[in-house]
This record gives sequence, C-alpha cells and structure tokens, in this order.
Amino acid sequence: MKALVYTDTQEITYRDEPQPSPRVGDVVMNVSAAAICGSDMHAYHGHDERRVPPLILGHEVCGTVIDGKHAGKRMVINPLMTCGVCHDCLSGRSNLCTKRELIGMYLQGAFADQVAIEERNLLEIPDDMSPISASITEPTATALHAIALVERIAYRPLSEMKCLVLGGGAIGLLAALVLKAKGASQIDLGETNALRRASIDEQHCATTYDPIKEQPPHSGDYDVVLDCVGSGITRNVSCEAVRPGGIISHVGLQDSKGGFDSRKITLQEVTVLGNYCYTTADMKASIDMLYQERLGNLNWIDVRPMSAGGQAFDDLHNGRVAAAKIVLQPDHLIN
Ligand SMILES: [Zn+2]
Ligand SMILES: [Zn+2]
Repeated sequence: MKALVYTDTQEITYRDEPQPSPRVGDVVMNVSAAAICGSDMHAYHGHDERRVPPLILGHEVCGTVIDGKHAGKRMVINPLMTCGVCHDCLSGRSNLCTKRELIGMYLQGAFADQVAIEERNLLEIPDDMSPISASITEPTATALHAIALVERIAYRPLSEMKCLVLGGGAIGLLAALVLKAKGASQIDLGETNALRRASIDEQHCATTYDPIKEQPPHSGDYDVVLDCVGSGITRNVSCEAVRPGGIISHVGLQDSKGGFDSRKITLQEVTVLGNYCYTTADMKASIDMLYQERLGNLNWIDVRPMSAGGQAFDDLHNGRVAAAKIVLQPDHLIN
C-alpha cells in the first residue's frame, strides 16, 4: 500500500509500505480521510520521543472497515486505545487510563491506504456524513472535552461568560466554534499567524487579535481562558487575562516550563484545569455536532492528496497555510 512515512526530523516520505498487521481484536480499515494533528507536527520537528521514525503518523481518521462485524461500513476511529478495566476506564475517564495507546505513536498510523485498529475503537457515523468532516472528530472531541470540564465547574452559563482562546490552530478554532455553538457570545482569540486569523474571521465565531502586537482586548476580565498553545508565554498571558474566580483551561502541550502565577491563582481563586484528549462520549458528541453542522460548514479545512503530504507538513511548518486543519485523502479518492 501507499503510505506517508515520517522518516527523519522534518522528512516525510511517500512510499510503498507493507499492509498493516492487525493484532488480536483489530480490524483493518481503508482510509477515506486522515487529518494532520499538531502532535504529528511535533513529531515531524523531532520533539516527540514517543514517535520514533520510521513511523506512519496520523490518528484523526475516517474510513471503511474491511473485516469484522462492521465490514463495509464507513466509520470513525477513536485512536485512543485503553484497557477498559482499570479504575479510570470504569469510572468513565478512559482518557486517563495508564495503559492507553495511540495509533500513529507506537503503532502505525493512518496516513496510508489502510490502517489497523481495535474493533471496539470504531464509532458509527451517519451514512451521508462527509469523510472530511468525520476525520476531524478527534480534535473536535479534544475541544469539546476541555469545554465540558469548564462547564462542570463554572459558576455561570457559558452564554454569560467572557471567553479567551489562545492559539488559532485546529483545537483553538474548534474550541471557539464549540463555545459559540454552546451559546457563548463573547469570544476573543489570539493567533500570531495572519493567514490563520483571516481564515478564522470568516467563521464569525470569535474576535481575533495578534498577540505579538496586542494584549487580549479584555485582559484581566475573562471568566474563561483556554490555552490551546500551552507555552510559558501563553500560561503567563492566561494568568494576566483571567478575572478573579475565573478558569484557566490548559489544553496545549508546547512546553512545560514556567508561566503560572501561583500567587494570583491563590489570591484570586483561579481554577486551573488540565485537559487530556477525550472520552468515547466526547467522540460521539463531536460526531453529532459536526454532522448537524453546529460548528459551521467546515469550509476552512484544506483537503490534499496523500502523495502531497510531505508538502503539507512543510507548508504547516513554514506557516504558509491559512487553514487550521489539513486533511489528506488517498490519491485514488481524489484524482
Ligand atoms: Zn489529534
Ligand atoms: Zn484503563
């Protein structure tokens, strides 16, 4: 089969690879669409010791199942494989399972004609759902999970809250779209890339600003700050921007050093929420939201053939892409 292989730092090679070798409980799927994630970019930059080349990346995927009880059905993959029997899995927080595994990390991923996945990690989608929309179920679930945690502890409904999103990549944009869909009306979004800001402006979900030149417009007065970057700089901005009693939701994983103002967090009773991935319930809710077009028509997604995947990674690396998400499709489905 054809696959896009991460072969070295900043090197992605489109080449022939052996078919996936399913483990016990796995099925094989023909990939219809697979989206490039920020974590794939992290690997591409050589910054992820869990993703060692040569490796087929990709874990945001929609495809048609070849074997097993769902054979012939188009489905979405929940790429997070968990044990299903530990304390966290049994209490509905499978994202915290210590035995979790992700395709495109230690196991081969989905930037290929085919991918193997545990059968129990398949999720049904409506027959007429676009594979492009379906392929962004996983990042949507990440945004949805973060916002669900905020809603659980917030004192007021989202519709009454001033929200700030830091970072206009896929998670940041999807977070703004989910906030809007859930009734939030005051959403500001900081993004350094002008192309991306212009693309986000077209969605009318948030007021964008350039964090290199400007402070968040209502700094010090945000009820909720979603840090979808997760760097020392954005943690610092989050602490300054949040109002007393507000919530900082930490979603991004760019670096782990510094930024939090523990004095302000303590004196002003700021809640800091960590977020990791999603549960199956978040994945299902995301499929519904995407299918019902509650997050808009998704026309901001950039669709490209798998064979041009190396260029896509290079374009993302150099900030040449307006779209917050590039989705790759096997060439035979596009040409
Ligand atoms: Zn992802
Ligand atoms: Zn578990």
